[in-house]
Amino acid sequence: MRIILLGAPGSGKGTQSAYLVDKYEIPQISTGDILRKAVTDGTELGKKAESFMTSGGLVPDDVILGMIRERLQDEDTERGFIFDGFPRSIPQAEGLDDIFGEIGMTLDRVLEIRVPFETILTRMTSRRVCAHCGAVYNLRSQPPKVDGICDRCGRAEVVQREDDSEETVRHRLQIYETSTAPLVEYYERRGLLSVVEGDKAPQDVFSEIVQVLEDSGNAL
Ligand code: AMP
Repeated sequence: MRIILLGAPGSGKGTQSAYLVDKYEIPQISTGDILRKAVTDGTELGKKAESFMTSGGLVPDDVILGMIRERLQDEDTERGFIFDGFPRSIPQAEGLDDIFGEIGMTLDRVLEIRVPFETILTRMTSRRVCAHCGAVYNLRSQPPKVDGICDRCGRAEVVQREDDSEETVRHRLQIYETSTAPLVEYYERRGLLSVVEGDKAPQDVFSEIVQVLEDSGNAL
């Protein structure tokens, strides 16, 4: 099963990907995660990407497509995968079509998780992460037991991601509207799009996703 999760930053793509990984035993390919690791590791890719990420802008398409081309060569993608945060622009979607054409793969379904703008702004500005182990919290819905201390690893490193400040979130949402939202029509025209209502409990969103995959004949 090869699927794309489409949705604004903060729409819950990461959470839903984790559920899908568990249920269908296929890997999540998150370009954001790959890039953040490259920045932390100080690789060439990380150096190229860092300034775009800090400002909330998009990393250039050729860099992203190179990463995807390489990732799709890994054996664990043979049974399928979930793209999370990719593609993010029409040129990336076209580039993906080319890559799929070269390696003889096709896309099964694109799921758009739709959440109102104000909900996303609140969700993202209250998101916190542990800078040490990566655990994710939300000050409103799922705060750490002790303020600033990670429940999982015990370090006092629960912080706001640099690109989750209100100003940057607004910028990221604007970029989503101009660069990424056109993908909805792109995939709708190809008959691949399903829309899922994302403004509800994560488990309920997931049930809807599973239903959509079953109804479209894509569940394994
Ligand atoms: P994410 O974790 O998906 O929100 O990504 C964090 C940041 O990484 C984004 O704000 C972009 O700067 C960069 N990024 C992630 N995926 C892509 C992509 N497919 N195209 C361009 N930039 C990306």
